[in-house]
Amino acid sequence: EATVNRIAAGEIIHRPANALKELLENALDAGSTSVQVLVKDGGLKLLQIQDTGHGIHKDDLGIVCERFTTSKLRKFEDLHSIATFGFRGEALASISHVAHLTITSRTPDSPCAWRATYSDGKLVPPKAGASADPKPCAGNAGTTITVRVPACSAVQRAAAYAGALEQVEDLFFNVPIRRKTFTNLAEEYTRVLEVVQRYAIHNSRVGFSCKKHSAQVADLQTASNASKLDNIRAVFGNNVARELIEFEFESVRWQFKATGHISNANFNTKRFTLLLFINNRLVESPAVKKSLEALYAKYLPKGTHPFVYLSLELNPETVDVNVHPTKRHVQFLHEDSIIEALCEAIDQRLASAND
Ligand code: ADP
Ligand code: MG
Repeated sequence: EATVNRIAAGEIIHRPANALKELLENALDAGSTSVQVLVKDGGLKLLQIQDTGHGIHKDDLGIVCERFTTSKLRKFEDLHSIATFGFRGEALASISHVAHLTITSRTPDSPCAWRATYSDGKLVPPKAGASADPKPCAGNAGTTITVRVPACSAVQRAAAYAGALEQVEDLFFNVPIRRKTFTNLAEEYTRVLEVVQRYAIHNSRVGFSCKKHSAQVADLQTASNASKLDNIRAVFGNNVARELIEFEFESVRWQFKATGHISNANFNTKRFTLLLFINNRLVESPAVKKSLEALYAKYLPKGTHPFVYLSLELNPETVDVNVHPTKRHVQFLHEDSIIEALCEAIDQRLASAND
């Protein structure tokens, strides 16, 4: 049991930025209008997400960290119809197996907030001798989730994250272990910030902030009800934003819809930036990336690259929900045809914008 749980933990949170992604999606699922992220030591020490969503009912606090027992999962008879991909009902459970988790939440019908602490999927007392039951406390409507990795050296913490990952690779993939070290906390923070920035662009109606624990000023602060372009400008600067054109395309044949902001044919930067969301989840797709690069090569001078923010909505049944969380690359049915149709549409859009 312990091994299974630790494996699951490694799958989801082998990096703070991955854990954060799950927590952000939960906050967005809860209908939040504001999501604030606080980070200490690149997330290896502390990760806190405060949202204004519908909250978790006191009676549910006991089970939210048990694997597969959450409400969402029970609603689905057929795993293939899950609208987002990735494993369901595992994120909080997994996080609780490698870190101390505290949830403070208030639902609109409750006069106060309730706080609970977890370890290994179960409620635990916040301190020795105390009760493990959720405790009433002051708090705004919404949920605050605090992930604290046990007090130990940065190196030990790194080993705790890396250890979980190694077990996964050992057992399921039999590939040589590439030992991950997290001595570079700045790099972990950059990854965390990048995830928040991208979700902020994609969900521009929600206000986001991301701040280091010690800092006075947030590294990202977006208004709720901003536009996607506003947030692209806030993150990537006006030099990028002013070269973007809007893109929208729908394919009846391949059952997908694409929207986004993509750089025009004159765009000129040293690095290809691709923000890709599939069914509202931030993903990486080398296949999409490669095709876009090839397409833009027709327009841009050698050595320069585009900026592409794309949101793809695919028929949920055609997205592979069983892609392992450690494999960050997403796969979907009719991938070649969809990418071809998409690139053709972008090609036309670029050509017409160039006229
Ligand atoms: P999943 O999202 O797949 O159901 P998680 O482990 O990510 O699994 O979350 C477990 C459950 O806890 C969710 O289904 C949801 O009911 C509840 N939950 C988690 N985070 C939040 C949040 N920020 N606001 C409201 N409910 C939440
Ligand atoms: Mg979730």
